[in-house]
Amino acid sequence: MDPRQNYNRVTAERVLKNLTRRGFEAFYEENAAAALEKAKALIEPGASVSWGGTMTMAEIGLEKYLKDNAGLFTLLDRDAAPNPQEKRRIYSEVFWCRWYIMSTNALTLEGILVNIDGLGNRLASLLFGPENVLVIAGINKLAADEDSALKRIRQTASPLNVQRLNKNTPCAKTGFCADCLTDDCICSHTVFTRRSNPKGRIKVLLVGENLGY
Ligand code: SF4
Repeated sequence: MDPRQNYNRVTAERVLKNLTRRGFEAFYEENAAAALEKAKALIEPGASVSWGGTMTMAEIGLEKYLKDNAGLFTLLDRDAAPNPQEKRRIYSEVFWCRWYIMSTNALTLEGILVNIDGLGNRLASLLFGPENVLVIAGINKLAADEDSALKRIRQTASPLNVQRLNKNTPCAKTGFCADCLTDDCICSHTVFTRRSNPKGRIKVLLVGENLGY
């Protein structure tokens, strides 16, 4: 077996064990194609589905699958809202949806999810509301501990995300976090999720490939 694959597998085994002891349902798939099949198997036809800003979901093909099969699901897609009022209505309906899909900014080897949000809608759904939360994370999201996770987010994930979102922040200009308080800052809320309560509500699908930021 490819040493990298082997390394990813043994690392994932450790992380999955820790996630499970924290009440998360946890899965590992070696690549994006297998992760897509797993997500398809989890999200049942007829379900209402929404998602937070996630490159990972698009990269594994899940966003395309859901949109191509829109007749099978009730999709709550805020980006498809024609006006701010409709967007607001979709945000409120997300609270009741069956599946909420997101990635995580970081995942520690001990099985703690670490996330930072600008607005907070993604983290609101992670904390409470949707019946199931499916967190899809590439192996690149792993961090040794909470400090490394925060460092990863502020030094890598957020500076990359501001480029994606076309934000006017110091890190967009320099690539480095300046601990800003600008109007465009995407680092307003920091959440550590150290267990799933209720048990099994949050499902973590770890993928043995680099995905998202
Ligand atoms: S400069 Fe601002 S937006 Fe960029 S990573 Fe730091 S706090 Fe976040």
